[in-house]
Amino acid sequence: MFEIEGVIYADYDIDPRDRSMDIRLSEVLRPDLTFRYEYDFGTTTDIDLYVFGEVKAPLRRDGISIIGQNDLPESQFICEICGERPAKHINPYRIRLVCDACYDEHYKGDMKYEVLPLVNSPRAGVCGYEGSRVDPGEYRVRG
Ligand SMILES: [Zn+2]
Repeated sequence: MFEIEGVIYADYDIDPRDRSMDIRLSEVLRPDLTFRYEYDFGTTTDIDLYVFGEVKAPLRRDGISIIGQNDLPESQFICEICGERPAKHINPYRIRLVCDACYDEHYKGDMKYEVLPLVNSPRAGVCGYEGSRVDPGEYRVRG
């Protein structure tokens, strides 16, 4: 669900004032606009977004073009067991962030199922999310 300038755009039908998500972003977004996105109403991930500018990208046959992507800030997340090494895993049930060495040392047998890879997404550690199986580079605009 998107909330853009006070209007809800959703793919469900719970309020007659809501509008369909079947609309081009170019019709509702403009540079310097702040808007909000909610994903999954069970374990909701709420994201505030800002439109920095407009980019003309070639239209692909499948309709998807990735024109920008953030890099995972590796050094920002430190293991919460040793407090030294970069975290590579996330445990949503116990200690949240775990490095490779602490994972090997502390997570044995069935405990391995409690831990998910720390992926480059606001959904990391949420609802069993392990990242995309699709290579984002496949959709990246080149040239
Ligand atoms: Zn560690």
